[in-house]
Amino acid sequence: MATAVLPRFGTDERAALAGEAVRMITSLRRHGATAGGGVTRLVYSPEWQAAMAELEAWFRSGGLEVRVDAVGTRLGRLQGRQAGVVLTGSHVDSVVTGGAYDGILGVVMAGCAVRWLAANAGRPALSLEVFANCEEESSRFACNFWGARALTGRIGPAEPEKLLDASGTTIADAMRLCGLDPGAIAEAKRDDLVAYLEPHIEQGPVLARSDDVIAVVDRIVGVRVVTVTLEGVAGHAGTMPMAARHDALLAASEVALGAEEIARRLGAPAVATVGSLEVQPGGFNQVPGRTRLTIDFRHTEESTLDAIDEELRTLVRRVAEGRGVQARIDTRLGQPGIRFDEGICKRLENACDEAGLEWRRMPSHAGHDAQLIGTVCPAAMLFVPSQGGHSHRPDELTLPEHIGGGIEVMVRTLFALAYQGNGAR
Ligand SMILES: [Zn+2]
Repeated sequence: MATAVLPRFGTDERAALAGEAVRMITSLRRHGATAGGGVTRLVYSPEWQAAMAELEAWFRSGGLEVRVDAVGTRLGRLQGRQAGVVLTGSHVDSVVTGGAYDGILGVVMAGCAVRWLAANAGRPALSLEVFANCEEESSRFACNFWGARALTGRIGPAEPEKLLDASGTTIADAMRLCGLDPGAIAEAKRDDLVAYLEPHIEQGPVLARSDDVIAVVDRIVGVRVVTVTLEGVAGHAGTMPMAARHDALLAASEVALGAEEIARRLGAPAVATVGSLEVQPGGFNQVPGRTRLTIDFRHTEESTLDAIDEELRTLVRRVAEGRGVQARIDTRLGQPGIRFDEGICKRLENACDEAGLEWRRMPSHAGHDAQLIGTVCPAAMLFVPSQGGHSHRPDELTLPEHIGGGIEVMVRTLFALAYQGNGAR
């Protein structure tokens, strides 16, 4: 018989939950440990397999049934009384020399919350599943959101044999080495999801600079990436007069500064980044003849992304004309943003209030599994603070008291979703 209301958590209860989460994080960071406390745990590597095996055993020891889906995602299930699943968790893979918290803390927090519910709240109405997702970071293969794309039926049939890692191994072969059948990927698609809740570290400085412990994440920004190629005229750095030059690097520099100006003028949440620049021929004594740069720009509103896109194209045309270079812009990536489910966001806010934790609403400026899963069922995320705002580096840290508070919020929100209500509705 399920409980009707959840008790108020004492400091001891929250500390016990935080202690279990920290014990798991400490143990899991051994798989792929790098210098300075960092982690490199690439999808389908031996380190990744070891972390998955440990999570599987931990789910089982907490009374959850474990299933492995077609791409290797582990699902720890607490069976409900009726059809429909509330899914919660995050990713197990990391970036190269990343930290011990990105992704996997979300799996551990979700695991702690569902294990607590299994032990203290009885059988839920809707099944609860802890989601230890196989891949999100795209750090071994250019396949990001592999697990979430499998779950939402978005992996093309030719992809597994085409995607290569740096050593030339296909993702299909990497899967086979883990005992997975790439021909069965379509079977990972789910149609039983009622809600998805993803806990994650913030990876930025907003919470750490405030007194807030929890961010209720109500949307994820859209991302666009364009490649700009500029063809000027190469020449001798000594003999070519300044007046005769069509320097492709100076044109690229103007474009980069112009992109910065657009984002600064629009203000937050607009950001624009030139993260890569190739210069040809590249000699110290040669006037650059050709450059290629990428511009990554992000915003919560699709209409603003369209406007930035238009402004960038005008900027590139103006620079090209002014400097007498040829310009081409190619769209490299267009990942739409998502607005999360208001019902789940409200439940998260109530849970924070019940737990006595300060919270704020904010968008996520980084991509997450929830932006794909949120297209097939109501979804939302919560962030816990990243010390110093650091992420994707070895000194990533979330304090135990913040982890404990986050797990209590998870317990209360999952209780509302799976025991009391009919999912997110
Ligand atoms: Zn992550």
